[in-house]
Amino acid sequence: MFQRIMVANRGEIALRVIRACRDLGIEVVCVYSEADRGAPYLELADEAICIGPAPAAESYLNIRRIIAAAEVANVQAIHPGYGFLSENAHFADICRSCQIEFIGPTSEAMRKLGNKNEARKVAQLAKVNVVPGSKELVETDAEALRIAKEIGYPVLIKAAAGGGGRGMRVARNDISLQAGLKQARAEAEAAFKDGSVYIEKYIEQPRHVEVQILGDSRGEVVHLWERDCSVQRRHQKLIEESPAPNLPVHVREEICKAAVRLAKTAGYTNAGTCEFLVDKDHNFYFIEVNARIQVEHPVTELVTGIDLVREQIRIAAGQPLSFTQRQIVHRGCAIECRINAEDPRRDFAPSPGVVTRWQPPGGPGVRLDSHVVTGYRVPPNYDSLIAKLLVYQPTRAEAIAVMRRALNEFIVEGIKTTIPLHQELFRHSSFIEGQVDTTFLERHWQGGMRRGAEESKAVS
Ligand code: ADP
Repeated sequence: MFQRIMVANRGEIALRVIRACRDLGIEVVCVYSEADRGAPYLELADEAICIGPAPAAESYLNIRRIIAAAEVANVQAIHPGYGFLSENAHFADICRSCQIEFIGPTSEAMRKLGNKNEARKVAQLAKVNVVPGSKELVETDAEALRIAKEIGYPVLIKAAAGGGGRGMRVARNDISLQAGLKQARAEAEAAFKDGSVYIEKYIEQPRHVEVQILGDSRGEVVHLWERDCSVQRRHQKLIEESPAPNLPVHVREEICKAAVRLAKTAGYTNAGTCEFLVDKDHNFYFIEVNARIQVEHPVTELVTGIDLVREQIRIAAGQPLSFTQRQIVHRGCAIECRINAEDPRRDFAPSPGVVTRWQPPGGPGVRLDSHVVTGYRVPPNYDSLIAKLLVYQPTRAEAIAVMRRALNEFIVEGIKTTIPLHQELFRHSSFIEGQVDTTFLERHWQGGMRRGAEESKAVS
């Protein structure tokens, strides 16, 4: 096992990895940018090293500086968290060439799955349904028009290198397809330095269901059941839960099996997530693999009792999985709310600044993953996630009741947060009944739940 690990990340996920290292008796080194200097979670590390100025390109994305810090600190492995360098195969290669273990999948598996169009090919090889669409990247408008005619409108233009909902455009006719291609290419080029796009059928009002997997270096792959992440805004998740409500048992089992098949075909190791869309008739289609730990991983930790970050570290150290598929038991219901420093009443405008009062919720069935304390300054430079509020209960109705209680206990002053949005969502009858899809929030939220939207005070 490793004696000393570095966390190449910040905020709540850096703290999450610090905790896992402590639990395993491993020393932990944190890196930080000038914008994060003095952040309280850094005090929990054995050592903290400044790697540069606030812009991510000069700090958390700067491979040279991170590797230099890792060498100075003499660590045996790097945990990349999520975002930043977590899915960068080049970074994984450099780590390993410096004899530093990268806590994640092999760079070969990352390359195979990091490009969405390539990942679709792996899925097809594993006999997993993909959304109908182009077989290869779409080079010309004429080609795009031909494919759209074949699969029928509406279609979705997607960036092969995409992430975070960027480089995606819906097209409902030939004219919007041509305009969308231009926009998607430009957006993808700017965001990922790779403007290549492909086309798939746009599934109307689907649910987003994803499967957590773990694979060890001996080729063993297990799934840890599913998470439903249908409450999204601009393709960004806001609420995640497990089990997926109202999903027929056989569909759930098929999706989980498909995820394992896909991971095995890709030679996948460590933690990963296979994402699927589920249409109204419960047909499911693979969309992508996230080759890293995800923001919403604690949902799975609560329903399975398995510490995913610990498992990641063990797997990277060459240990076999410590359980078989049959030993993974899914119990109860867990729900996560992402608390962002944003103003949901002003089109989710970022709201960085000093938190003048931070009074977190607690009590039975509540878990809060956050690096924030009273007096903490939320820097404007990074992702706006400041806390993940989770509840765990025997049933979904009880989980909703506990979440409402926890949201009411949660006091944050000085900045705006998404807490008021969640408070309204947890009173909406469609959400309470588990009848939501990926377009639900945008259809109902206009700075508040739209007037006339059904409301329910009782937990049904
Ligand atoms: P990203 O990597 O940018 O997050 P994904 O491929 O994971 O992109 O898709 C993110 C979200 O976009 C999905 O959860 C879903 O809401 C929507 N989406 C993706 N593909 C489709 C599709 N073919 N039809 C309808 N919605 C889609």
